[in-house]
Amino acid sequence: MLQLQSVTKSFLADNYALHPISLEVADNELLVILGSSGSGKSTLLKLINRLLLPSSGKIIYKQRDLSSYELVPLRRSIGYVFQNIGLLPHQSVAENVSTVPHLQGATTQECEKIAEKYLAMVNLDPDEYGHRRPDELSGGQQQRVGVARALATEADLLLMDEPFGALDSITRDQLQQELLKLKQQLGKTIVFVTHDIFEALTLADRIAVLHQGQLHQVGSKHDIVNQPATDFVRDLFNKPLQQLTSLSIHTDDH
Ligand code: ADP
Ligand code: MG
Repeated sequence: MLQLQSVTKSFLADNYALHPISLEVADNELLVILGSSGSGKSTLLKLINRLLLPSSGKIIYKQRDLSSYELVPLRRSIGYVFQNIGLLPHQSVAENVSTVPHLQGATTQECEKIAEKYLAMVNLDPDEYGHRRPDELSGGQQQRVGVARALATEADLLLMDEPFGALDSITRDQLQQELLKLKQQLGKTIVFVTHDIFEALTLADRIAVLHQGQLHQVGSKHDIVNQPATDFVRDLFNKPLQQLTSLSIHTDDH
């Protein structure tokens, strides 16, 4: 589906937000980009839908150089769930969901149908929520709308930038499970960005660990936990695993 070939990005001369990154995303794969704040995760996603251009290297999307696509259709053919949700405040929830189909010329009636379908898919009752404005929804519900809007593009590639980062842990767990179900039902390829190790382990087919713009390792959960490629990756996973172990020792004491 997607190949990054030695892709770099520098915003300022000689100051690289991304050092050469090479990785592949297979069809129907959920690849998690895991890294702390400032590691270059959002930059990487923006390169994939050409909100940004690489400073060097190449991105191949569906067997073609990304730069050879027409920009507007390309953007619309990739579902994007933003870090800050990014719903249009003055439009109804239903209108937000059908933004891209509307831009592509779907009629009002078709847009309503599409909004109904995808709101139901993310477990929001279209009759109850469709006509509301985004600020009349909880954070978790708004995030569901963000996911519905990305699905409504009917893109087979979804880019998700810390979509559940601002949610409480119960809502986040629910949305993670729902995302896994949707992925299976709909056969989507997903690049999912997070700073949360447990979220990465819950969702990923493979994990790419990014630190200060460097790709430290790409691999299965098993490989990353058991055969860390660098000290950074080892420490990253050791700490939470040790914390869990020490917590369970405390609970045994009771
Ligand atoms: P993350 O999403 O992992 O938190 P980002 O990709 O947003 O990280 O940022 C990676 C680095 O690139 C940071 O040091 C950030 O300051 C820098 N950066 C991101 N966007 C820009 C920009 N438009 N201009 C200059 N520097 C930027
Ligand atoms: Mg970011």
